[in-house]
Amino acid sequence: MRLQVIGDPVLHSKSPVLHGAMLSALGLDAAYDARVVRRGELPDYLRWARDHGVAGFNATMPHKEDLLPLLDGIDPAARLTGAVNTVCLREGAWVGFNTDGAGALSALGEVLGFDPAGSTVTLLGAGGAAKAVALALAQAGAERVRVCNRTLERAVELCARHPRLTPAPFDPDTLERLCRGADLLVNCTSLGMEGCPRQFEGFSFLDALPPHGAVFDLIYHPAETELLAQARRRGLRAMNGLPMLVWQAVLALEHFLNRPLDRGAMAAAASAALEHKQLF
Ligand code: NAP
Repeated sequence: MRLQVIGDPVLHSKSPVLHGAMLSALGLDAAYDARVVRRGELPDYLRWARDHGVAGFNATMPHKEDLLPLLDGIDPAARLTGAVNTVCLREGAWVGFNTDGAGALSALGEVLGFDPAGSTVTLLGAGGAAKAVALALAQAGAERVRVCNRTLERAVELCARHPRLTPAPFDPDTLERLCRGADLLVNCTSLGMEGCPRQFEGFSFLDALPPHGAVFDLIYHPAETELLAQARRRGLRAMNGLPMLVWQAVLALEHFLNRPLDRGAMAAAASAALEHKQLF
């Protein structure tokens, strides 16, 4: 079996390590490698992949949205999100899935014991990752998800996709107001990411979270962003994006193999491989 991850850039991707570890834990004779595919090259890649025995692939930027019109079938969650990160060849048809949202929920459950049902969430950002996570939270029963974004129109467009999503601007007063009573704050912006020149202007909005409130930063490089450090300093529970990265890969592998796996064992194998490689 041959599997790939495609994107541009893609050579830094952790997917070969994650999937390689899970495939060898399963004792499967399968190869998973990274391939640079530039914007506009997707139709050529799909032809090439079919001719070269690729059974499935993960997609990262800039392809997650561009793939949709090129596939033969799209899973409802991916259709709602408007993006795919996992594509499988099923009986000759390319079928797309999105495991980012479900991966985030699994990670939140595993690390924080967080159950979205009935919860109030404040979510920062309205880009690709924010869409997947906000919609997954709403579909899993979150009572309200307030989506704060610098470009308000993008938040408005995202929130039109589900009645329990509400758009809001991204400014210190709004963040503080919306952190009051929130069970969870999720950062889906690139603020604080390695290589991102910008940082949050301040962190006083964290003081408005209730004591049981938790902070989930999708960023995993660095492992502890300033947002997470500030949250922990205030005694709040906090987690980074590594568990989500691991869980989206576990769920992608289930799609590739088209069968349920021992998810805990797969996540453990993938996490151990990341630690072992000391990638950070
Ligand atoms: P994206 O589509 O480019 O979205 C970036 C978001 O950040 C947008 O909402 C953007 O707001 C906001 N932003 C950027 N600079 C800002 C600033 N100076 N002030 C306020 N907001 C700002 O990126 P993405 O793919 O969604 O990724 C977002 C983050 O999630 C990245 O750090 C990425 O590494 C992480 N991520 C993690 C995982 C995981 O598995 N853990 C998976 C996917 C992504 P505007 O709309 O106003 O531009």
